[in-house]
Amino acid sequence: MPSLGLVNIGALATGALSAPRGDADSLLAEDGRIVALGPASRTGAAGADVVVDCRGTTVIPGLIDSHCHVVLGDYTPRQKTVDFLDSYVHGGITSVVSAGEGVHAPGRPHDPAASKALAIAAAKCFEHFHPNGMKVNAGSVVLEPGLTEDDFAEMARHGVRHAKYGFGGYAHPRDGEPEVRRAQKHGLCVMSHSGGNSIPGSSPITHDVLLHLRPDVCGHVNGGTTSLDEDGLRAIVAQTDMTLQIVQAGNLRSALFIVKIAREAGALSRVCVASDTPTGTGVMPMGVLKSVCELASLGDLAPEVVIALATGNNARAFRLAASGTLAVGQPADLVVCDAPAASLAADAFSAIARGDIPGISAVVIDGRVQVGRSRNTPLAKRLADIRFGGGPEMAPTPPTLGSSRH
Ligand SMILES: [Zn+2]
Repeated sequence: MPSLGLVNIGALATGALSAPRGDADSLLAEDGRIVALGPASRTGAAGADVVVDCRGTTVIPGLIDSHCHVVLGDYTPRQKTVDFLDSYVHGGITSVVSAGEGVHAPGRPHDPAASKALAIAAAKCFEHFHPNGMKVNAGSVVLEPGLTEDDFAEMARHGVRHAKYGFGGYAHPRDGEPEVRRAQKHGLCVMSHSGGNSIPGSSPITHDVLLHLRPDVCGHVNGGTTSLDEDGLRAIVAQTDMTLQIVQAGNLRSALFIVKIAREAGALSRVCVASDTPTGTGVMPMGVLKSVCELASLGDLAPEVVIALATGNNARAFRLAASGTLAVGQPADLVVCDAPAASLAADAFSAIARGDIPGISAVVIDGRVQVGRSRNTPLAKRLADIRFGGGPEMAPTPPTLGSSRH
């Protein structure tokens, strides 16, 4: 496949919370992976087959939405919308993690056989289906009473890596603890609903139930859509090491409270950012980007730190194959962005710090330019120039590159 070079990078977010800012002004990718980061004289990025001239703008890792309601295909039955994943790529999201295909599957029955079958089918379908290049980590089994050790072993063998708790046919939310343990024993990362009930069919899950269940991730810990109370949030932060997933489709006041107490507890490494859409809140291509701006501008966190919560922290918490960071050896999944044209800010980081959603001028997945100028974000002050195949070809509008990588 053609090599890709990024030159004239003005600022870089690495996606790694431990060192969230990088200083490379160029990046070279070969066969979809980053092979060099550093000064252009050393990386040779300007000589690549495809060159993105970032013109002094900002490069961040592709955002990861760790709470996305996929079912099958690029269609959300909840909002009856097609091509939403394609559109999310225009919001800077290059990977999503399914929050349980069964949660939104029309007519979903509550039996273990159906739950297992749906998870395996989704995992295998999305292995071969990448809307606008997006990586869809699907195969998230909705835990139901009666799922056995053998069921989890079979699912793990067939590529199911995640489980969702809170929508099964249990009389009381505490009753699912055996299935949570079995899923974890077979290597699945278990995310539990937390807080008040969301759609019909879900149960409220309070902090004491979460302490009993001990999932790996407290899903939408700021509410999906109704948050746990503040004492409950304090207990989850202080008494557990569970991942704290903050979502756009939750309670913003609660999100800011969680960031504050997590930071005070030295636990930002446990915080990750997601959208929890499509849901009743809607289809939100800019959901993760909007949360990044809200947490940075209102939560007193540096933009590059919040970006790490929405990239590297998600990849680690959900045990994804790639690290969600911009580093040699990692897939070249990244976003080129700048302050929006009308912002008082001069660059993307200052825009995010003010709460202005940046304008995206390129989205790259596995070293391939999937999107030029975003159809969803505001116009960027400075647009990247994209040169394909050695010609001086500009790409001010999204190139039509097909809807699948395979
Ligand atoms: Zn959800």
